[in-house]
Amino acid sequence: MNMVPPLQCSRMMAQFSLPWRWFLGLVLLLAILLAAVNLTLRLTLPDYLRQRMDDHLRRHAQLAEPSFRSLLATADPRINDLAHDLAARTGLRVTVMDAHGIVLGESGTPPALLPQIESHWTRPEIQQALQAPTGYDLRVSATVNQPLRYAAVAVREGDQLLGFVRVAVSLREIDDTVAHVGRTISGASALVGLLALPVLYIVARRVTGPLAGMQQMAVAMTAGDFSHRAPVIGGPELERLGEALNMMSTQLAGRLRELAAEKTELASVLTGMTEGVLVVGSDNRLRLINRALREQFQLSDEALGKTVREVFRHVALEELLAQPGMRELTFLTPSERTFAVNAAQLPDGAGTVVVFHDITRLKQLENLRKEFVANVSHELRTPLSIIKGYVETLLDSAPPDPATAQQFLRTIQKHAQQLENLIEDLLSISALESQRAKLDYTRLALAELASTLVEELSGRAREKSITVHLAIPPDLPDVRADRERLRQVFINLLDNALKYTQRGGTVTLSARALDDEVECCVADNGPGIAAEHLPRIFERFYRVDKARSRELGGTGLGLSIVKHLVQAHGGRVWAESEVGHGSRFFFTLPIA
Ligand code: ADP
Repeated sequence: MNMVPPLQCSRMMAQFSLPWRWFLGLVLLLAILLAAVNLTLRLTLPDYLRQRMDDHLRRHAQLAEPSFRSLLATADPRINDLAHDLAARTGLRVTVMDAHGIVLGESGTPPALLPQIESHWTRPEIQQALQAPTGYDLRVSATVNQPLRYAAVAVREGDQLLGFVRVAVSLREIDDTVAHVGRTISGASALVGLLALPVLYIVARRVTGPLAGMQQMAVAMTAGDFSHRAPVIGGPELERLGEALNMMSTQLAGRLRELAAEKTELASVLTGMTEGVLVVGSDNRLRLINRALREQFQLSDEALGKTVREVFRHVALEELLAQPGMRELTFLTPSERTFAVNAAQLPDGAGTVVVFHDITRLKQLENLRKEFVANVSHELRTPLSIIKGYVETLLDSAPPDPATAQQFLRTIQKHAQQLENLIEDLLSISALESQRAKLDYTRLALAELASTLVEELSGRAREKSITVHLAIPPDLPDVRADRERLRQVFINLLDNALKYTQRGGTVTLSARALDDEVECCVADNGPGIAAEHLPRIFERFYRVDKARSRELGGTGLGLSIVKHLVQAHGGRVWAESEVGHGSRFFFTLPIA
């Protein structure tokens, strides 16, 4: 018979559900038990029965012995009859022999054949009976030709041996008994097995029922479903296990809810951050990029899983990841930007979190500030060194003639004026930039303000024979503006127009109403501004011709102040010009 290897057997068992596996296991156990009982009985019972049979034979031989003693002493011919009689009563074969083993009575042989039976003196049981109380042997009888068990006792009268009484039983009887008992045991085993099957099935279901429920619950939990409850049945141990599982499920569900909430919070914090956040795994691959970083570097989800080198192509960033800390890094793509990048290692070497703080604007402002300081210093130094030079000349050399001294002092005065203009303009700019200049809005009629201004400047216009035209329609709507600031805008523009326009030129101040604003224009027919300078003339200290501007008392800040003031009113400012054909400066103001 082919034996099934244990591994294969357990694989086969695994195909069945848990209750069936338990049931089959219990059936197997019962089968083994019954088989063990059967085997033990079959192995021990024949010996036991033979033992009992030997006792039985011995007792019958011993019982028969006194009956034959007197008959043997006298060699009574009734010995054979008595042997037959005893055999009939006990069902045993009875043989009686004299002291030489000559058979005198034999129940298994007809009396006529008695003399033909050979002497039994050499039979093993007879020889044993001489030494021991009882002699036994097992052999095929020569007389009756079948396997027999013999028991013989010696018959004695005092010390004198009179003969032997021997009883025998056919071995077939013993075998029949053994076979019968065996059949009974097998039948009983089969019956027990059959009766036990339903009981075993019920036991298997009762034991595995709660386990199956727990298994279903565990499977549901792995799928994220925590609504299942484990059955709390099946005895104290299983009940405790069920309760523990239910508690674990509740706690896990709670913990997961907390985790999900934390994750959502973290996600919304990351999304809401203006700083770019990047998480890089220990394998140097991108694991998380927040919205700001996606926008800053125009990244999509495809970047996730790629290496830092593939996505950023920035050696210094890679160095920073290798040695976390804070560094200012400039990236050229998608546009040139500077970031303060802070890299910190995650706990347990899980990777690195990198925060990108965009400082491009800060850097630009810092550069602007540096440039501004340098420009201011330069602008201040020029008139100051001229004043210093003239003063030193006046002090050091012999007193000049009054006309020269007068000329020197005028130059000093002019440059002192230049310094004053510069400082005033700087103060205006500083006030505007620090938002200290709170605008005092009023409703203004532009025509009235413009005519006052033209009146104020008429002296300067006359000096240069410049005609100033005022073209403001009488029905122009009022504007909403700070009178003093607006005056400053007009004065700066008109001052420039008068400054740069040659003698005999024309300056026109006009205005017109648009949808919800008024557009003002200061135009002249002066030298005009070349196209390459136009975009920059509103920058601080930007001049088309530095020397000429200074000569005319300019600071390079006038248009910059105009731009600030107009923007503070919520308006726009721009210039149009063509070299040789004059310039037009426009600005808008909101209608009141
Ligand atoms: P500045 O004090 O030098 O006049 P502004 O900021 O007022 O400084 O003007 C900047 C530059 O724009 C001037 O230096 C000049 O070159 C040019 N500019 C301004 N207004 C006119 C104009 N009406 N005609 C020609 N050029 C002008």
